[in-house]
Amino acid sequence: MTWVYAFQDAQDLGRELLGGKGYALAEMVRLGFPVPPGFTLTTGACRAYLERGAFPEGLWDEVREQVTQLEEATGKRFGGSEGLPLLVSVRSGAPVSMPGMMDTILNLGLTLEGVRALAEETGNPRFAWDSYRRLVQMYGEVVLGLAPEGFKRLLERAKVLAGAERDVDLTATDLQGLVDDYLQYIKDQGQNFPNDPWLQLEGAVRAVFDSWNNPRARTYRRLYGIPDDLGTAVNVQAMVFGNLGDDSGTGVGFTRNPATGERGLYGEYLKNAQGEDVVAGIRTPQPLERLRESDPELYREVADVAERLEAHFREMQDFEFTVERGRLYLLQTRTGKRTPAAAVRIAVEMAEEGVISREEALLRVDANALPGLLRARIDPDRASEPVAEGLPASPGAAVGHAVLDAETAESWAGRGLPVVLVRPETTPEDISGMYIARGILTARGGMTSHAAVVARGMGVPAVVGVAALSLNLEERSFRLGDRNFKEGDLISLDGATGKVFAGEVALSEGESGAYLQRLLEWAEPHRKLGARANADTPADARRARELGAEGIGLVRTEHMFFDPERMPWVRALILAETEREEREALDRLFAFQRADFMGLLEAMDGLAVTVRLLDPPLHEFLPPLVELERKEAAGELAPGEVKVLAQVRRLHEANPMLGFRGVRLLLVRPEILRMQTAALLSATRALQEQGKDPLPELMIPLVSTPEEVEQTLAVVREVFAEFDLSLPVGTMIETPRAALLAREIAPLVDFFSFGTNDLTQLTYGISRDDAGHFLPHYLDARTFAHDPTERLDEAAVGRLLEIAVREGRAANPNLKLGLCGEHGGEAHSVRLAHGLGLDYVSASPFRVLTARLAAAQAALHS
Ligand code: PEP
Ligand code: MG
Repeated sequence: MTWVYAFQDAQDLGRELLGGKGYALAEMVRLGFPVPPGFTLTTGACRAYLERGAFPEGLWDEVREQVTQLEEATGKRFGGSEGLPLLVSVRSGAPVSMPGMMDTILNLGLTLEGVRALAEETGNPRFAWDSYRRLVQMYGEVVLGLAPEGFKRLLERAKVLAGAERDVDLTATDLQGLVDDYLQYIKDQGQNFPNDPWLQLEGAVRAVFDSWNNPRARTYRRLYGIPDDLGTAVNVQAMVFGNLGDDSGTGVGFTRNPATGERGLYGEYLKNAQGEDVVAGIRTPQPLERLRESDPELYREVADVAERLEAHFREMQDFEFTVERGRLYLLQTRTGKRTPAAAVRIAVEMAEEGVISREEALLRVDANALPGLLRARIDPDRASEPVAEGLPASPGAAVGHAVLDAETAESWAGRGLPVVLVRPETTPEDISGMYIARGILTARGGMTSHAAVVARGMGVPAVVGVAALSLNLEERSFRLGDRNFKEGDLISLDGATGKVFAGEVALSEGESGAYLQRLLEWAEPHRKLGARANADTPADARRARELGAEGIGLVRTEHMFFDPERMPWVRALILAETEREEREALDRLFAFQRADFMGLLEAMDGLAVTVRLLDPPLHEFLPPLVELERKEAAGELAPGEVKVLAQVRRLHEANPMLGFRGVRLLLVRPEILRMQTAALLSATRALQEQGKDPLPELMIPLVSTPEEVEQTLAVVREVFAEFDLSLPVGTMIETPRAALLAREIAPLVDFFSFGTNDLTQLTYGISRDDAGHFLPHYLDARTFAHDPTERLDEAAVGRLLEIAVREGRAANPNLKLGLCGEHGGEAHSVRLAHGLGLDYVSASPFRVLTARLAAAQAALHS
């Protein structure tokens, strides 16, 4: 077993073993790019270490051998105190990129004796002490696990004492003093910084391996569905220095713009600095574009590297480089994170440039991210003056209550409040808060800072590097320009322009661009599954049709009942004591429903519209029991409410989602069933008379026995006869019993539509209304790998679907099959639906885009 490979010997070993970074370094060496020499400890070594809790045998012999080779290649000595010492960077690199999750240590191998040698050899004592203080700080944070704030405070104090404004204004003597402070701080914390390069290396490797299992890495893997057993590689690389003076620097480049996808070199450069200054957002760098004038030669060189990297990897690259005394070195390259909009544009343009095929382009876009493209924007005509401006790090608009840390973000968002996370800068500790926030705002950092990269990856709007923002975390307040805000105040931001507004700003709807259109056109010929929409209003139906919906798979008729104008009539129907009262309420509702159905059928003219009969329990249309009981106790009950309370008590259920609803309600109160059927037929007839082509279908909710279907059909057929018009009738399959009795139910109907929302909650025995109490815990603990209400459970719910599809089709070969739970707009679930051979999925209007692309992807995969 070999645990360690030099970059030049690691070719063709693959990403699994070398990790993404190690793999890319080996590739770059093979292609002849200027890469500082180094070696990779494999993910296999990490897995072996984590399994045994100790380094695998032979690992350190191999490392020593590699270090000797590095010494030969560079002519420097590791831990040397004469001549230039060999310093290395130690970086993690998992097989899947996890930005910011793992830790980096630079300048490793430096000792107090080495500092003196370095100072002498470079003639730059400031540089030598600065390198050492960075090592001590990073080692303290990453390996010894000390709080970064401690180091930051000492650095700030040193700057105040020295009267220095920026880090670079500190002199060698200041920095030497700062190192003493750091070492003392470490001692005070009961820890020790080793002055031995080998102990440093061992500590660093151990820390990287261990960090695979730190909570934030686990969170990231959970959010992105990355397996827990991959392990991470460690890359040890000879240091090059970007902080040797003004002819040195460090930068990050993208081969295409990660926010818009526009073709061409994009990035940032910071003179006289080390890479971590850029990534950590501590100093705000310059756009790479400026190099075009200030250093055209370097610009050309970087642009050339970008072009060659992209041509080789056939994918947009995000690369880090350092210039040491005018010489360019590449430190790493990886597939660049991008916004969903950029992902679409890049895939389409790369296919058009002939770099990848159209099929590859389709597979490269995350179908689940498409609805985000239609995300709201700030309406420029209705927006107030911005209070501040920063860098437009991740597009999209956000309105929310300002929260000053991730924990508050989570707790407020958990209560249903939209929040905007406001931070000085973000770190991996903030991930869960960033994920849940509507928007992110930071005072520091550039377009490639942690906040920017992570927000773009998550598709959360973000504005970073807002110089006019200052926070007071103790008082839970902040200033934006000349205005004061408290935590909880509403703010708005536009991640596309970088503008920040006080209060709530009007948003306008997003639009799907030309690139998306093209991508979806390419998807069409591959797709086998139909894509319908769940829509309850003509506006939604039109919108869905524009987005490519081929009909409506679910009209939730109860949503029409919730309209404030109609509620009194719904309540009148529920509370009716005489037949006359009931008749009047039904007639009113008939008129509303008929008009609704006409609007929907007209919007979907020529396409099927599946109208589901009333589903929810009636108490949902009445005021909540607790509220009425509180009023009763306080003697505040109005005369009319006494009757209401009595009825609410009668209808009250311990678990409303499993009770007197759906077909049960329709059979017990057939007048509602008749009214809805008649309204649909009447609307259909009226449209036919206008020469239109309405194609309604009637759907029965929540059945669990064939008898329920038969009895409902008996009533429905009577109404059909009255109108001398009949429609296709289907049933939802959303109880496990209905799925298991598909053989008996299928011959009675024209179609099944799987209500996977109910089927999921009934299969698991969880209620969608209160699952929030334990689901987050379950996902954290990985009791559930995914939220089954979001991503269809293949093992059990999928099995019920499979049985119902197979037995339903056998019993009725003409049976049409659809799926209309929320899962119809989630890519993994669409793939499952494709595999089951369903005819269509139905999703909320924006998610029709996901359904269309995911259906094509599923077909391409199979
Ligand atoms: C379902 O249960 O999957 C469904 C589509 O119906 P609803 O969400 O309205 O219960
Ligand atoms: Mg349902």
